Amino acid sequence: MSTTAVVERENFEELFEALRARGYESVGPTVRDSTIVYDHIETVADLPVGWTDIQEAGTYRLVRRKDEALFGYVIGPHSFKKYLFPPRHTLFTLEKTSEGVKLVDAGDPVPQYAFIGMRPCELAAMSIQDRVFGEGPFFDTEYLRRRQQVFVVAVNCVETGGTCFCTSMGTGPKALEGFDLSVTELLGDAGHRFLIEAGSPLGEEVLADLPHRAAESGEVADAERLLEQAEGAMGRSLDTGGIKELLVGNPEHPRWERVGEQCLTCTNCTMVCPTCFCATVEDTQSLDGATAERVRRWDSCFTTEFSYIHGGSLRPSAAARYRQWMTHKLASWIDQFGTSGCVGCGRCITWCPVGIDITKIAAAIRASEEKKHALA
Ligand code: SF4
Ligand code: SF4
Repeated sequence: MSTTAVVERENFEELFEALRARGYESVGPTVRDSTIVYDHIETVADLPVGWTDIQEAGTYRLVRRKDEALFGYVIGPHSFKKYLFPPRHTLFTLEKTSEGVKLVDAGDPVPQYAFIGMRPCELAAMSIQDRVFGEGPFFDTEYLRRRQQVFVVAVNCVETGGTCFCTSMGTGPKALEGFDLSVTELLGDAGHRFLIEAGSPLGEEVLADLPHRAAESGEVADAERLLEQAEGAMGRSLDTGGIKELLVGNPEHPRWERVGEQCLTCTNCTMVCPTCFCATVEDTQSLDGATAERVRRWDSCFTTEFSYIHGGSLRPSAAARYRQWMTHKLASWIDQFGTSGCVGCGRCITWCPVGIDITKIAAAIRASEEKKHALA
């Protein structure tokens, strides 16, 4: 049975201390360039204190809140995937020596990360990437090396963003599993405090280090009420009923051509998506030929090179690439990994420069199918 306790705002700083004492490097939300990004953080003061984000399709803006909430925003362009599956990673280096070529393994020690402020949709995304990188006959040792030592401080979403649809995807707004600690921030007349639930023995240990008291039944009820309100206030929704059959059965739908006319193939949607995992491998060598390295870096199915084989690209048009991405996310991913590839975080909608909205495309295809059946 998990422990739920209350930590007052003035004692929340001690979470950082408790993690530091156990050798963790805390990474989490902080304000940079008018955006909330994930970076190294040391103290509560590094968090986006008193900031919130306003999001819509193709729009993101930070504004001041009327209170000093630590987690009063939703999510920014970064996801924690960058720490487990880095955007650029050296796989190995080769060095020319007098005896020949020496292989230098790049298996440097990896930091022991504490993910602070991980939202429930991001926890779900990490669980999907655990399957992609860690299950089946082929697994990724680099991902697993990093993942095995992560400590997760999840934050439940008591407010939702304009592009969120985690309720539709069954991934939020409350974290149910996969965390060491889960935090619900409570503000108001009774004071600024945090309802904290331990989800692992290590989480229990860390919680025991913080000055805390037992949660009162009214506080638990307040948190539940806020989460219920958030559940009903999502900015978007996506009908997932029969979505796989809907998309796989409509490869020639005219909507793909229409979205292809808008799409800039900029790759933003895949870069911000917490579950996208495509990568390419590049070899480079120094100008004097003394060293060479093999690097893995994030790639995207929106580039022509991604599907380039034998003198041509399999998906030359933007329409074909968007269809591939969305059909993979919401349909063929289910065949591959037994789960949807979308957790409803809404980042691909917010950060698409032309505001293309995955929920609207799915709804439009569904509406035309329903119309077709109604007329049949
Ligand atoms: S497809 Fe879009 S909404 Fe779904 S997980 Fe990726 S970025 Fe988030
Ligand atoms: S859908 Fe939007 S974000 Fe994605 S590649 Fe096209 S223009 Fe860029």
